[in-house]
Amino acid sequence: MKKIQKNRRKFIKDISKLTLFVLLNQILFSKKIFAHNRPKVVVIGLGFGGATCVKYLSNFSRILDLVVIEKNEKIQTCPFSNLVIGDIMNYSSITFDPNIKFNNSNVRYIDSEKKKVFFNDHDTLDYDFLILSPGIGFKKDQISGYSLDNDSHVPHCWDGEKKLINFKKRLNRLENNSKIIISAPDYPYRCPPAPYERASMIAYYLKKKGLKYKIYVFDAKNSFTKKEIFLQEWKDHYTDSIKWISRDQGGQIVSLDQKNKIIETSNGTKLQADLIHIIPEQKASNLLSDSNLCDHDWCQVNPMTFEVNGQKDIFVVGDSIDAGDMPKSAFSANSQANILSINLVNLILQKDFIDPVFLNTCYSFSSKNRAFSITAWYKLNSSKDRIVSLGSKQSDILSNHEERFEESQHAYGWYETITKSLYS
Ligand SMILES: Cc1cc2nc3c(=O)[nH]c(=O)nc-3n(C[C@H](O)[C@H](O)[C@H](O)COP(=O)(O)OP(=O)(O)OC[C@H]3O[C@@H](n4cnc5c(N)ncnc54)[C@H](O)[C@@H]3O)c2cc1C
Repeated sequence: MKKIQKNRRKFIKDISKLTLFVLLNQILFSKKIFAHNRPKVVVIGLGFGGATCVKYLSNFSRILDLVVIEKNEKIQTCPFSNLVIGDIMNYSSITFDPNIKFNNSNVRYIDSEKKKVFFNDHDTLDYDFLILSPGIGFKKDQISGYSLDNDSHVPHCWDGEKKLINFKKRLNRLENNSKIIISAPDYPYRCPPAPYERASMIAYYLKKKGLKYKIYVFDAKNSFTKKEIFLQEWKDHYTDSIKWISRDQGGQIVSLDQKNKIIETSNGTKLQADLIHIIPEQKASNLLSDSNLCDHDWCQVNPMTFEVNGQKDIFVVGDSIDAGDMPKSAFSANSQANILSINLVNLILQKDFIDPVFLNTCYSFSSKNRAFSITAWYKLNSSKDRIVSLGSKQSDILSNHEERFEESQHAYGWYETITKSLYS
């Protein structure tokens, strides 16, 4: 365990040193260039991918003009939102006022031929290079009777919009011996361990209130990341009050009767519950499909530059892309966005692209001071058109309390560092 953490810390240090070295080199080189016509770089989205690009590119005002667009006034992060549900953190500690000048508008459409961004209020903006990190969209009609727009359904709270308070109110109304159903979506989706962390945080919250409860996690998959550790943590800390039902055991929910609060699964099982929490199947942001930049579930990009396949001067990063073996996480979006930014500056300076390596660590909490993680390293395949895994390490299933506690401190530290570096 100590060795994994040492290796991980060394890798993070090496990558940070490399990014800093490239940044200093590029700044020195850019000072030698007298730019008559600085290209206009427009960034859409101030979540983890977009804010990372803004942070890096802000160092290059000599060679480019940066314009930033974000539809929300404040950023509410999905990372650590499960801890708000668990009452371990409060809502304000995951909500940020970005210390960045940005245009607070909703983008409706992008015309890639005219190189124009269209806003909801019919205003427009031209660009030379466009970076999009708009997060995710949701598939419709996957579960009969469930609708994303119906406010009587429990909000999914999977996109950083302001529905967490509504979710917590419903959780707070639960009485003793409540039944809760969570539906976990099929791959790929944003943050693979998060549905199971959410189940843990609901259990933590209800246990702390002294209530008895049963949580059923119905899964559209037959396995999930860090499964053995989650199952062990649930057994040890929630005395089997959380039950996981795999796809082969009939875990896929096919319909919801909202009025009577009953779900039906693929094998015909019907179950009534007091709270039914559907996490919908996911896809790239609607902005990309509406703008004809994505005709699959996920946007196809060149992983060296993040330029959209078949397009020029439009780059997409973060959860909306097909990132090969990389999972959709804030850590991944940050790692990809650094490479995108470095190689965009290289493009403007007419320098060679760097051949990227990427890193991801996903921490999960099972209670306030118990966390575990998986770390993986990535590079491009030999034809340079796909991100592939170089290997991964995960926490030990038998870790003792001190080790779980230590990992929880790393997780809090990671969150504080990334949010401070991007938003303050
Ligand atoms: C419950 C949960 C827990 C998670 N925990 C972790 C974790 O512990 N660690 C981790 O690494 N990852 C975690 N994640 C995943 C993480 O939230 C995402 O992977 C990350 O946010 C992806 O970054 P992004 O830039 O692609 O999208 P986002 O961070 O969602 O940013 C997208 C931004 O674009 C803006 N936007 C979208 N459309 C428009 C438009 N039309 N006009 C203007 N602005 C627009 C949005 O308002 C938003 O600010 C978690 C996710 C969930 C759901």
